[in-house]
Amino acid sequence: MEASVCGAGPAGLLSAICLSQKWNGNCKIDVYDKRPAPTYSNKSWEDLSSSFYNLGLGERGITALMEFGAWEVVRDACILVPGRVDYQPGSSEPSKKMLTDKKYGTYVLPRDKLVSVLHQHVQEEYSDSIHLHYEHDVRPIMDTTSTDDDDSNVRIQVSNLDTDKIKIKDSDLVVACDGAARTFVRYFEAQDKKNKDKQDPISIVRFEDNNQRVFKSIHFQLPSDWERNLNYAVRSENSRVIFDALPVNLEGDYVGILLFRANDEMAEEQVDPQVFRQFLQQEIPQFSDFITAIESKKAARSKSSILPMFRYVTPRLHHGKNCVILGDSAKTVKPYFGLGCNSALEDVRIFGDCVDDASSIADAVSEFSSRRAKDIEVLVQVSASLDKPGLAGLFGFIFPLILDKIFYKLAPQVFAQNIIAMLQRDDITFQEVAARKRSDRIGQICCLSLLFATISSLVGSLSVAATTIVGSTSATIQ
Ligand SMILES: Cc1cc2nc3c(=O)[nH]c(=O)nc-3n(C[C@H](O)[C@H](O)[C@H](O)COP(=O)(O)OP(=O)(O)OC[C@H]3O[C@@H](n4cnc5c(N)ncnc54)[C@H](O)[C@@H]3O)c2cc1C
Repeated sequence: MEASVCGAGPAGLLSAICLSQKWNGNCKIDVYDKRPAPTYSNKSWEDLSSSFYNLGLGERGITALMEFGAWEVVRDACILVPGRVDYQPGSSEPSKKMLTDKKYGTYVLPRDKLVSVLHQHVQEEYSDSIHLHYEHDVRPIMDTTSTDDDDSNVRIQVSNLDTDKIKIKDSDLVVACDGAARTFVRYFEAQDKKNKDKQDPISIVRFEDNNQRVFKSIHFQLPSDWERNLNYAVRSENSRVIFDALPVNLEGDYVGILLFRANDEMAEEQVDPQVFRQFLQQEIPQFSDFITAIESKKAARSKSSILPMFRYVTPRLHHGKNCVILGDSAKTVKPYFGLGCNSALEDVRIFGDCVDDASSIADAVSEFSSRRAKDIEVLVQVSASLDKPGLAGLFGFIFPLILDKIFYKLAPQVFAQNIIAMLQRDDITFQEVAARKRSDRIGQICCLSLLFATISSLVGSLSVAATTIVGSTSATIQ
């Protein structure tokens, strides 16, 4: 068996490991990435680039890594973050929440460190079957000998960015894991658009973003009397900036993400360091003293990075007979609920099951579409519906969370946890989460209507009784 994995991010590297295991090492798996080989070291955060960020691994990601025996090496590189400290606008008193209801807890590590650890694991354990090629740009081309796309194979064009050599390659399986760049999917979308007779043409659903945010990363040292394994977050007045910080080690080094509205002048490149410093003191006074002048200047000068947008590929996650689309190239969500990487790794686990269950590659890739396409659609739709600014956010996100908290506390046998907690669980699909929340909402509305009806009928009866008593009393006095 020969496979080409396009993109060596978390999804690409885990896919290569998965395939090597499924094919018992009797295979040749080439993994390509246009970036240089990862060189993350425990000091990498010192040269912080604006796109450096930590990510949290939860149930879905951890279960997938466990399935392919990669969890232990990843876990050793993570910090277990047991809780979160939040500062609300204008408040110096934070609220602290320990995350006790999670199956595994949240394990945190920089995205680049995760990639580096998986890369090393592949080199150490799978060097016979998996071959890593960095600084190689890959793009798809179709096998033009077939007249029917559904019956044809995806081939790839591999460009060695070092030598400028280009080659065309055929593989039994092509795994498109090229992240939000989506070179593969955009090519398939354009192909299908040209072909008017194409059944189920592939397309990318792009959500309009009316809450666009960009981010800059900033390093700081937490004093020794602060808990050094927590997630700290500040929402500034009018939500001008959201600051979310996670540890990079247990010695107090943290990397915070400053989330700005896209048009905020502080999000621009080459901001005056003094103006930026004042901005930090004003908007995140709880942490500004921990940020050195050098780090603040670095962030002021840096270019902001764009958060992933809400996008999903529909109606299928495969193309031709041999190409499957996984990870961020299949869907992207903003990272507020920590589901991008977790669901990307889960994609790999589910595709692995399809390889087990199907009798051919063609069946496996189309089976993956059947099992996963609708689910990621729901994930993106639900996440996008929770990301609304202003009043829409209050009614669409905050109120339902409060309702869920109350009802779950009152009747946990009847009502489920809030939607964010449910989305993290690995024993339930995203479609099941959405269906469960719809039925919870109906139940909550029925309970509240019943409560209001009972209260108003009680108030009615009481006022009738009061009128009767007042009437008879005044009659007696006369
Ligand atoms: C600020 C921030 C915080 C986040 N926090 C979380 C979190 O807490 N939890 C979570 O689960 N997720 C989080 N995410 C999302 C997470 O990082 C992504 O979902 C995850 O990295 C997706 O993995 P992937 O392998 O699919 O894609 P990527 O990580 O994007 O990897 C794709 C790879 O493909 C390569 N590539 C692209 N085009 C080509 C090409 N033409 N040829 C060759 N190679 C190519 C790229 O160089 C890259 O290495 C966060 C994201 C951001 C921005």
